Amino acid sequence: MASIVTVPQEILDFINSCSKFIIAGHKEPDGDCVGSQLALRSALLRMGKEAVVCSAGPFKKTEIKKYSTEFVPIPKDADISDTKVIIVDCSGRERTGEIDDSLKPFQSAIIDHHAAVTHPRSTALAPVFVDSDSPSCTLLIYKLITALGLQLIKKEAELLFFGLCTDTGFFRHLTEKNADVFEAAAVMIRCGASPKITFNSINGGKSLNSKILMGNILSRTEAHFGGKLLISYETLSEFTTYGFESRDSDSLNQILMSIHGAEAVVIIRQELADNCTVSLRSIDKINVAKIAATFGGGGHKNAAGLTMKGDIQFVKQKMLESFVNILIY
Ligand code: AMP
Ligand code: MN
Ligand code: MN
Repeated sequence: MASIVTVPQEILDFINSCSKFIIAGHKEPDGDCVGSQLALRSALLRMGKEAVVCSAGPFKKTEIKKYSTEFVPIPKDADISDTKVIIVDCSGRERTGEIDDSLKPFQSAIIDHHAAVTHPRSTALAPVFVDSDSPSCTLLIYKLITALGLQLIKKEAELLFFGLCTDTGFFRHLTEKNADVFEAAAVMIRCGASPKITFNSINGGKSLNSKILMGNILSRTEAHFGGKLLISYETLSEFTTYGFESRDSDSLNQILMSIHGAEAVVIIRQELADNCTVSLRSIDKINVAKIAATFGGGGHKNAAGLTMKGDIQFVKQKMLESFVNILIY
């Protein structure tokens, strides 16, 4: 059955007992992270509280660029005696990146939907609202806003729907178990979120270069293990030429996953001479979060990522080794 996780009372108490909040998300934010942060800020402001959104950035994805101006540095005058931190869409506080050290002194709560949560509960009963079955963090924020006794306003509905659509690949990763997600989506739409506008804001606005780069990556795709694993890469020189802005991972993965027999997709991107990021996707049974975790990364069962020292050949070899036991059967 779909998730029936309810909002923990300790999260509600955490929010009700404080009037100043810093809402943080993961570095290199995506639509779910930004949507969660901004919708939660809006709700807290409506409750008469002070709230700011902070992120290590960078705001690389085209669909979130317009929100970057909402984000501020961690307020210098924030006092640990009257300010609390809420971390969203992060499997651990270290995923907040460069702002992690500044957040550490504050009492913090975490709201997340990743497979592994490493947030230490030890610090002053830090409350955790985690549901790894939730397809987006914005869905948890939706539940939280409702549990706080608020009706969604249009802006919040749009932000929550935006995050839900980005993390579910516009609902295509959902299954027959997710009727409740569509019920929540219906509420968001009734409150003013538009599927058409949201779809265009996520899938439109891409550059011609992003399609040229995608063509390059597609053209060098290799099939391994009888076609069960598809692996390709973006070179350092492409990264230098096209930059982060030209990455269109969701479309690229969608095309590769549509290939007959594919069960998993690996895209390696070389960002420095000796450093790569790796994006992992699977269609169904393969748990790519587990593979990512063995290299210090993380994510979800069907979508995960990691960074690794080494060049493309080295990282590719490591990835192939990781899939040997899983795909030879
Ligand atoms: P991506 O392939 O970058 O779209 O990431 C897919 C999923 O994996 C997202 O949920 C990310 O939060 C997660 N992820 C990506 N990179 C990492 C990392 N280095 N550590 C932990 N989780 C990651
Ligand atoms: Mn995210
Ligand atoms: Mn998410």
